[in-house]
Amino acid sequence: MTETEVLVVGGGPAGVISALTASKLGRKVILIDAKPYEEIGNKVCGDALNLAPATFLEEKLGLEKPHGEEVADYVEYLIFKTVKADFPIRGDGYVLNRHPFGQRLLKTAEDYGVEVRPETKAIKAITGTDVVKGAVVQDKKTKQTYEILARITIDCSGRNFQIRKTLPKDGFPLLEKTMEKRDVAVSYREIIKLKGEDHPYRNKIFLIYREEIPEPGYFWVFTKGSKRLNVGIGWFLEPRLRGMKERFWEVLHKYYYPPGSYEVEDKGGYTIPTRYPMTNAVVSGFLTAGDAAFHVNPLSAEGHGPALTAGYYAGKAASEAIEANDVSEKQLWRYNVDIMKHFGLSHTKVQLFTAALRRIKVSGVEFLLKRKILNQEQFIDLHAGKELGFFDKLKIGIKSFPRYDILLQVNKIVKGAQFFEKLFAEYPDNPDAYPTWQSQFDTKMEEIRGNQ
Ligand SMILES: Cc1cc2nc3c(=O)[nH]c(=O)nc-3n(C[C@H](O)[C@H](O)[C@H](O)COP(=O)(O)OP(=O)(O)OC[C@H]3O[C@@H](n4cnc5c(N)ncnc54)[C@H](O)[C@@H]3O)c2cc1C
Repeated sequence: MTETEVLVVGGGPAGVISALTASKLGRKVILIDAKPYEEIGNKVCGDALNLAPATFLEEKLGLEKPHGEEVADYVEYLIFKTVKADFPIRGDGYVLNRHPFGQRLLKTAEDYGVEVRPETKAIKAITGTDVVKGAVVQDKKTKQTYEILARITIDCSGRNFQIRKTLPKDGFPLLEKTMEKRDVAVSYREIIKLKGEDHPYRNKIFLIYREEIPEPGYFWVFTKGSKRLNVGIGWFLEPRLRGMKERFWEVLHKYYYPPGSYEVEDKGGYTIPTRYPMTNAVVSGFLTAGDAAFHVNPLSAEGHGPALTAGYYAGKAASEAIEANDVSEKQLWRYNVDIMKHFGLSHTKVQLFTAALRRIKVSGVEFLLKRKILNQEQFIDLHAGKELGFFDKLKIGIKSFPRYDILLQVNKIVKGAQFFEKLFAEYPDNPDAYPTWQSQFDTKMEEIRGNQ
């Protein structure tokens, strides 16, 4: 048995930043990961990271932004591409080499005093009455199982959400303990090196909507320097579709690079929990961040930046709770408030766009744009869940619009966004008021999603 103040499960971006933050703020932290030390931070990914979370971490923790070998390319534009049109938006960021970046964060966490236990797998939560007290873990080398008792446990185990899902079913009623299939995206990607000329996609990342790929899934082409590309495909797990790799190769070979014109340097597939964030991610003695808490953009499936950001808030909330000698749900609730403010509302609004796109399909979006019912900025605002000032104008525009299915979906986004803006402005500052708020949220969200 081991005792610590903070136990972090998972050394991906959410876990490493949670651990680093709590340790920097003076806490005794153990971080466990099922992987060997050298593999922590490595992951099959599109590798794109916005500048904003990197700047956030620099401001909050003094962490240097990605640099040197960690950066495969700098990004200036994100381009939404359909067959007939391109919609570029300015979007500063990086395409990373995730492994060295993750390893740097891990080593920095150690420099701040975090004890890293690699090849240590969390098996299940240890709980008392209404409180999480740590985890049963297994040393993968010796196969020995033992307990790590912690005042606060932070579940950052990604799609496994190993602690959250092993909480007693009949306890902790305010916390979701499952992950529905409809909220999981599947993806496959290859990193390719071109044999011939340099590619024309430097400093750009493309999200490509095509009829070969079921909406709201997409094909992506991300630059990794002049000769390398990270190319991939992703869509939702439900309804179950076969042939992901075949469709990936079909699109890659038909529209981009034929077989033989490139070498594959790396390949792999994985799943991504892709949904609006959990509206409560705490119970007494427990927090969860990153993929384990659905901190992923519900359309683009970007989760690296939100995981880093949420990791900071989780580490801070854990540290403050221990300092106050109060690890109750009420004390930790501040974490929920921070997440809801930072990206909770915007990701919820993106979920509306995702639901609409699934119904009107790519052809519907193209129709809206071709008829100038929606301009590029408005399309992007819809996608990003940003301000909705343009909707009044939009409403006038769509009055004469003959495609009533599209009209209906746009109206749903408008009304839904207005509803959630109001609801999030009233997000409770303590758990007592949460059930009423949650019931309003869930009812509206189900109405919008329907059977999706
Ligand atoms: C193919 C693909 C492409 C993607 N492209 C992008 C992109 O371009 N941009 C972007 O922002 N996001 C992208 N994402 C999403 C992004 O990778 C994740 O959102 C992000 O890594 C989440 O970080 P995390 O720390 O929550 O989880 P993870 O990075 O998954 O880390 C979880 C960690 O927990 C460990 N772990 C799991 N179970 C246990 C256990 N039981 N015990 C101990 N340790 C455990 C794992 O070993 C791992 O190290 C992509 C994902 C995929 C699959």
